Amino acid sequence: MGSFTDQTTCPQCRGAAVREFDTRDGHTHEFCLRCGRVHDRPPTDPHGAVQDGHGTILTRVRDGGSIIRSITPGLSRQAVLADLTTWSQHHPTLSLLGVRLPPAYRLEFITGTPMTAAPGPSLEQMHVERLRFLLEGSDEYLAHTNPTHAYVAHLHEPGYRVLTHGPDGADLWLSCSDLGDPPLALSALTPASLKALLDRA
Ligand SMILES: [Zn+2]
Repeated sequence: MGSFTDQTTCPQCRGAAVREFDTRDGHTHEFCLRCGRVHDRPPTDPHGAVQDGHGTILTRVRDGGSIIRSITPGLSRQAVLADLTTWSQHHPTLSLLGVRLPPAYRLEFITGTPMTAAPGPSLEQMHVERLRFLLEGSDEYLAHTNPTHAYVAHLHEPGYRVLTHGPDGADLWLSCSDLGDPPLALSALTPASLKALLDRA
């Protein structure tokens, strides 16, 4: 009766995927937390159906759990942006929002940090601009945010770091890069070097 869950490696991105097995009917469902790949295997079909990952959206609300959703294949980036903006307006206790996009599937924080339940409430214009940057890419991004400091920190996920930057008193979590990178001083951060960092991984 019931089901059990374990973890497996995603064949598409090598990230961690959750595998759920229904002990009543033998149905297996795999979902990659990183790229969003879905593999559904009913007991009558040993191969099952695969939906390739096109990225994921991570959201967390204060006093609530985290939700990871697949980005629907074929959805335009404008539609993703509109969806997230609407979503944040309906979840006033939003504390964290991040996206993973192909080809790197890095976790890019739009708002919030992995450790705290601040800030909220809905997406501010700055967050929307950052989303637009992640979804469309723009060398002009830094001119909008006017950062005064930047540093990198480890995440629990192997192979990734978070680059934090922003104006005084307001950390903006932007990106992840390879482990082993030296801490990045703001003085060394130019639009070109930031873009190089984002393009790696
Ligand atoms: Zn994956």
